[in-house]
Amino acid sequence: MNVLVTGGSGYIGSHTCIQLLSAGHTPIVVDNLCNSNSLVLNRIEQVAGTRPLFLKGDIRDRAFLDSIFATHDIDSVIHFAGLKAVGESVALPLKYYDNNVSGTLNLVSAMDRAEVKSLIFSSSATVYGDPASVPIREDFPTSATNPYGRSKLMVEECLRDFQQANPDWSITLLRYFNPVGAHESGLLGEDPQGTPNNLLPFVAQVAVGRREKLGVFGNDYNTPDGTGVRDYIHVVDLADGHLAALDKMTHQPGTHIFNLGTGQGNSVLEMVHAFEAAAKRSIPYEIKPRRAGDIAECYADPAYAEAQLGWKAIRDLQTMVEDTWRWQSKNPHGYC
Ligand code: NAD
Ligand code: UDP
Repeated sequence: MNVLVTGGSGYIGSHTCIQLLSAGHTPIVVDNLCNSNSLVLNRIEQVAGTRPLFLKGDIRDRAFLDSIFATHDIDSVIHFAGLKAVGESVALPLKYYDNNVSGTLNLVSAMDRAEVKSLIFSSSATVYGDPASVPIREDFPTSATNPYGRSKLMVEECLRDFQQANPDWSITLLRYFNPVGAHESGLLGEDPQGTPNNLLPFVAQVAVGRREKLGVFGNDYNTPDGTGVRDYIHVVDLADGHLAALDKMTHQPGTHIFNLGTGQGNSVLEMVHAFEAAAKRSIPYEIKPRRAGDIAECYADPAYAEAQLGWKAIRDLQTMVEDTWRWQSKNPHGYC
């Protein structure tokens, strides 16, 4: 299939392009490079043997999108492009609503004009808010505690309404748990700009000597060791989840919602110790107060995705931290 991949030079998008190419699909990457580097395209080519077509531009640019759909015979769109920093979204909510919500509406309108009727959207487990219990099923209630989460929830609702009004469309909402890891080649990985917000990139930068120590946000949660528990999923498993959705859902009209997680929860300290074993060095850390908005535990029930998509995550925690360490140690300053 010819697949338009918005945000395709970003962390998850780049790994998905590799999996698409190896499965015989043709990804066409659209990205404005606001949070990624065009060197990623070289790395994709090095790994996959083919360089995807790269079109630099913004999904909020109507003429740009119309020209793409007019020039290329697109079968389906995988939509990663968006902003994802929770703290920044609190400070700059309009930037998030404009980019994530208006950007998506602009994309869907362009698809509609071009009669491209299959969309896979990057949603997040953040739409479950603070769940009443774990593991989390797709039919749990949704809520949001910050503008980033609200932007994902708004897009989900807009897409659901749009699909109901256009019943021949296939719209798949993939709710990611915590993507981590890197390509096994060590050529692609996560390259956050500035101070990492997420746990594993921070740990990796401590291990490689870019940061002095990790702050562990709270050790008084109601969890086995008191630190927060999350469902960490290898980015290549996540990418494969998109391929399964493309394969199974493109020709299935409806709004389809799937959790992409492993079903297993690990604490902050378990992640630190697993990383220490992979990197063969200690990770200094100090306990800090809880981070505002954090919850104690969050992990998926992945059964519905497995039943419907025939997909499940197969890479274990050791692989996640080893691959992260290979990427970070080979590229201590990321793509540069
Ligand atoms: P990323 O920042 O690495 O990738 C997003 C890409 O989109 C970047 O390359 C950026 O330059 C591009 N982009 C942003 N706004 C754009 C615009 N208006 N026009 C064109 N390109 C634009 O992030 P990621 O981790 O790969 O995340 C991909 C998607 O998955 C995002 O929508 C994110 O919200 C969602 N998500 C990520 C996580 C996570 O922890 N990484 C978890 C849940 C959901
Ligand atoms: N965390 C931490 N220190 C950090 C970053 C994160 O202790 O520097 C904790 C955070 O409190 C949460 C877990 O690590 O319990 C995962 O956080 P992350 O930001 O990676 O993902 P989230 O689940 O919040 O989206």
